[in-house]
Amino acid sequence: MNEQEFEKMKNQRIWYPYAQMKHMKTPYHIVDANGVYLYTDDNKMIDSISSWWCMIHGYKNPEITDAIKAQAEKFSHVMLCNLSHDGAVEFAEKLADFLPGTLNHVFFSDSGSVSVEVALKIAMQYYINKKQRREKVLSLKNSYHGDTFKTMEVGDSSEYHFAFKQKTNVDHINTNIEELEDAFKNHGEEYYCMIVEPLLQGAGGMKMYDISFLKRARELCDEYGVLLIFDEVATGFGRTGNRFVSDLVLPDIVCLGKALTGGYIGHAATVASDKVYEAFYSDESGKALMHGPTFMGNALAMTAGIKSLEIFKRENCMKKISHIEEFSKKLLSGYKNPKIKEIRIMGGCIAVEANNPADLTGYQDFAYKNGIFARPFSNIMYAMVPYIITDTELTQVIETMKAWWNKQ
Ligand SMILES: *Cc1c(COP(=O)(O)O)cnc(C)c1O
Repeated sequence: MNEQEFEKMKNQRIWYPYAQMKHMKTPYHIVDANGVYLYTDDNKMIDSISSWWCMIHGYKNPEITDAIKAQAEKFSHVMLCNLSHDGAVEFAEKLADFLPGTLNHVFFSDSGSVSVEVALKIAMQYYINKKQRREKVLSLKNSYHGDTFKTMEVGDSSEYHFAFKQKTNVDHINTNIEELEDAFKNHGEEYYCMIVEPLLQGAGGMKMYDISFLKRARELCDEYGVLLIFDEVATGFGRTGNRFVSDLVLPDIVCLGKALTGGYIGHAATVASDKVYEAFYSDESGKALMHGPTFMGNALAMTAGIKSLEIFKRENCMKKISHIEEFSKKLLSGYKNPKIKEIRIMGGCIAVEANNPADLTGYQDFAYKNGIFARPFSNIMYAMVPYIITDTELTQVIETMKAWWNKQ
C-alpha cells in the first residue's frame, strides 16, 4: 500500500456494509427525506427499495413522527426486564390480535437477525424442555436469514457468507415437494425445526415459489413433530400481497422485522404459538427462555410500531399492494430483452433477473440520473416500493428499469 492509499484508509470512519471499502463507490449523501423521496444536495430520487424494504408508509409520516416525539417527551427507553410499559403491552397485544392462529406470545428484539436467532433458540429448547434430542434444521437453498452466525448457518447465501463455509447440521433443499418429502423421510425425526422465508426469498435472489410447497411442509412438520418457522422479516406486513404468508399456512413461530415499525426504528419480534409457549411455561426455572436484548421493547420502537400498524389497517394497505402488483404487471406485461432471464412480480416486489450480473453494472448511477434510488445485487434488479407510491411514481420506477434494458 502506498502512502496515499494508507492515508485514505486511515481516514475512513464508517465501515459500510457489504462493501470492499477500498473500492466502494461514494454513497449518496442524504440530507432530507419525505414520502417516497430521498434528497441529496442536488437531486431528488424515489426510494424504489424502501430503505431495505422497511419504509412502507414513506418518510416523514407526520403521525409516526408525532407519536415518536410524544413518547420521547415521556421516556425513550426503559429495559423490559422487571419493568414494563404501556407501549410494549399495547403493541404485543395488537400484534397478537393481528397475527393469525395462536401466534400470541411476542418476544421483542432489536433486529431481524436476532429475531431469527431467538426463533431457532426457542425451537431447539422446545425439544430440550420436552427431553427429546433433535439436532438438525431443515432449510432452503438460496435462503437468507441474517448475518449472525446461526442465521448464516441456516441461510444459504454464498453471495454474502462465502468467507464462512463450514460443516453444519443444516439440510438445504430446493422448493420442490419431492425433495421436501425425501428430507423428511430420511431425517424427519432429527429436525427440531424447518425454517423458511415463505413464498418470497429476498436477499438470496428474489426467488418466488408456490404455496403448495408450504402446505406440504406444514403437513410433514405435523407428521414428524417438527416446528415450522416462518421468517417473515421481509415478507410480513403485506410485501407478498398477503398480510402475512402465515395467513395462508400457519407456522409455529413467526419472525417479524423490517416493516414492523414502518421503518422508523430498528426493531423485530419473534412470535410463538400457544403450543410452543406452553413448553417453556413451567414450575421449573430451567425451562425459561434465557435471552434478553438490552433494547427489546424500546419505547420509541413500540410507539412507531403501534402507529404503523394503525396506518396499515386504516389506509387499507392490502388494497394498495394489490394495485401495485396489478399495475406493475400491466407495465411489464410482454416485456422482453435477450439479456433478461425472467421477470417476477409478487405483491409489492418486482424482480428482473438478468442472465449476467455484469449487465447491471452502472445501473445504480443510471437510476440516480433518472431520479430513482435502486440497489441491484448479483444478477437481480428489483423494486420493493413504499406502499404510498402513486401510479406516476411507480411508472417512473418501472420505465427507468426498462430504459436500462432498452439501451443494452
Ligand atoms: C433482512 C432480513 C433478515 C435480517 O434482518 P436484520 O434486521 O437486517 O438483522 C432476516 N431475515 C430476512 C428474511 C430478511 O430479509
